[in-house]
Amino acid sequence: MTDLSQDQVEKRASIQKSATIWGVIVGAVVGLIALWILGGQGGAVRYGGAVVAALAVGGFVYRASFKSGAKSALCEKCGAAFSRSRSGSEETLAGSEAKEERKEQPDGSTEVKRWTEEVYDVVDSYTCAKCGDVTTNAYQSTRRKDETTETIAAPEPETTKTGKSSASGSSGGKGAAKGSSGRGKGSRS
Ligand SMILES: [Zn+2]
Repeated sequence: MTDLSQDQVEKRASIQKSATIWGVIVGAVVGLIALWILGGQGGAVRYGGAVVAALAVGGFVYRASFKSGAKSALCEKCGAAFSRSRSGSEETLAGSEAKEERKEQPDGSTEVKRWTEEVYDVVDSYTCAKCGDVTTNAYQSTRRKDETTETIAAPEPETTKTGKSSASGSSGGKGAAKGSSGRGKGSRS
């Protein structure tokens, strides 16, 4: 642990960096929540409390994140710290499935989403910079592909359209038929 190689120093720096980012993000969120909760308090209590809460939680998250990062970078074989890092990743397609999702919209239309869901078997390999030991971690990951969105319009309301056309058509037809038949009868007799 005392004399770290260049690789190990870099690895430790990158773990510290991501731990710092997490600590700052979570700390800021907690600080804002504390400001909101302490809304009824005086200025000193409100801002002081928010700063204390942000520092306490942010610090805790930093330490937890650094610890887990350091643990995953520890070589189990030779015991070197900050020596294990991802050296490769291999993906194989395990299967794909067509999926569909329908969602009713407020205006009565329907949104249809279709996509292909692919499942991959992923194997990440980690190599120790000191002894060269390789360990692997296998897991599955799913991905959406060829996503399309289609909107099916709402069916038009029937009352306005058919009601109007049938009323005008029947009245005109009836009147014309009556007039012609009447005239025909008169001329014949
Ligand atoms: Zn090792």
